[in-house]
Amino acid sequence: MSDVNTPIKNPEVKFTQIFINNEWVDSVSGRTFPTINPATTEKITLVQEGDKADVDKAVAAAKEAFKLGSPWRRMNASDRGRLLNKYADLLERDLQYICSLETLDNGKPYHTSIGDLTFAIKVIRYYAGWADKNTGKTIPVDGDFFCYTRHEPVGICGQIIPWNYPMLMYSWKFAPALAMGNAIVIKPAEQTPLTCLYAASLVAEAGFPPGVVNVVPGYGPTAGAALTAHPDVNKVAFTGSTEVGQIIMQASGASNLKRTTLELGGKSPNVIFPDVDIDKVVDFANDAAMTNMGQCCIAGSRTYVHEDIYEEFVKKTIERAKKRTVGDPWTKVENGPQIDEEQFNKILGLIKAGQEDGAKLECGGGRHGDCGYFIQPTVFSDVTDNMRIAREEIFGPVQSIFKFKTMDEVLERANDTSYGLAAAIFTNDINTAMTYTQGVKAGTVWVNCYEVVNAQAPFGGFKMSGLGRELGEYGLSQYTEVKNVVIKIPEKNS
Ligand code: ADP
Repeated sequence: MSDVNTPIKNPEVKFTQIFINNEWVDSVSGRTFPTINPATTEKITLVQEGDKADVDKAVAAAKEAFKLGSPWRRMNASDRGRLLNKYADLLERDLQYICSLETLDNGKPYHTSIGDLTFAIKVIRYYAGWADKNTGKTIPVDGDFFCYTRHEPVGICGQIIPWNYPMLMYSWKFAPALAMGNAIVIKPAEQTPLTCLYAASLVAEAGFPPGVVNVVPGYGPTAGAALTAHPDVNKVAFTGSTEVGQIIMQASGASNLKRTTLELGGKSPNVIFPDVDIDKVVDFANDAAMTNMGQCCIAGSRTYVHEDIYEEFVKKTIERAKKRTVGDPWTKVENGPQIDEEQFNKILGLIKAGQEDGAKLECGGGRHGDCGYFIQPTVFSDVTDNMRIAREEIFGPVQSIFKFKTMDEVLERANDTSYGLAAAIFTNDINTAMTYTQGVKAGTVWVNCYEVVNAQAPFGGFKMSGLGRELGEYGLSQYTEVKNVVIKIPEKNS
């Protein structure tokens, strides 16, 4: 057997059509769209472009699969768990191929594609275990009644996936929805449809009944919007930008009040007190800002450093950023290219804004190489709170360093943002850590670590970073409706 740590540099693209009812079909319009390799800017292949008519077909298939009495509705919950585990086995079997396809389509270094898919598989196995464990309650109501709750599937779920972690975000949507017995229509991001389509091919192989999982590649304002406006879709789960999240919530409300979960942008503060091992924390802070080329909603894009260690911290951060390896994602680099030309230009524009606003560009700031969408690891110091780079999500390898003096001050500044996805603090003082973890407004707070995300623990945002939680037991409630059943009985006894 070949070594999974060695990529297949030219993975064959096997699936480019729309997946409905466990079958591959062309788009109704006959249109296709290209997907690009961001490391070379070359077209990889053309993919069938789904639009409203295709979404209608996929939703109809999901509805049929979800009908009372259907094989999916009649299936034992434990068997849904078995199917999910079987599906995880198939992803594991094809790990090398899927990760190679992910690197080709997304540009992320191959070893990080492996990390993503390994995590995705864990998420699927975690929710496989939940399939027969999400129980209701019996409730001692007043009077001669027997009262209990059922946790029923919500129904047809539209799931809209971003391009930064294609397989990982796919698993976060797919697994809890199916564990709870829903039927789904997934729209992958137009930049990265290929791994999601391959993953669809394994749905039939695992044995899911037709129509339970449907995948419609296409653009956001067409295929994505059709899903969010569809009257037969009961729930929308979206990961992406805050701007699009707002549009989706409006569409959900205006159509049929879809249950809506949103996992949106961030501008996460990473606060560093002086009582730490500076070398170690410099490393953490650099990774926090630049992991996945900074294309990470939880990126620690605001590094607040205490004035006592500020100079030394900045100096060491520059040294670290200069050592960050950038290049061919088939090799063991830390950073590959950004996803596409639009993001590449947006990031360079924000770097320019940082300079114009008076931040000190310490290193990087431009394109890396002359081919592909690579950007140099970039560090700004002397950043102040009202600069654009302090307020807007950059989604690129840009670390902005701010100076602070006291806890009260840094807490107020950390919270002075419309986002609230994640936050971190580095300190060895328990009281400092506890004050911060209680005061900071964020869905996740890390102490002396960063980007620790697990299948078992909830993930999501305060404020404009989102709505609802994914992962863990909390994530289950987003995929179930609670039904209260009250039965008249002759005589209640305690
Ligand atoms: P980014 O800005 O990071 O590219 P987006 O929020 O634009 O992220 O995209 C995330 C996902 O949302 C993609 O699958 C995209 O196609 C989809 N999308 C974009 N616009 C809409 C929309 N108006 N309605 C539904 N989905 C959309």
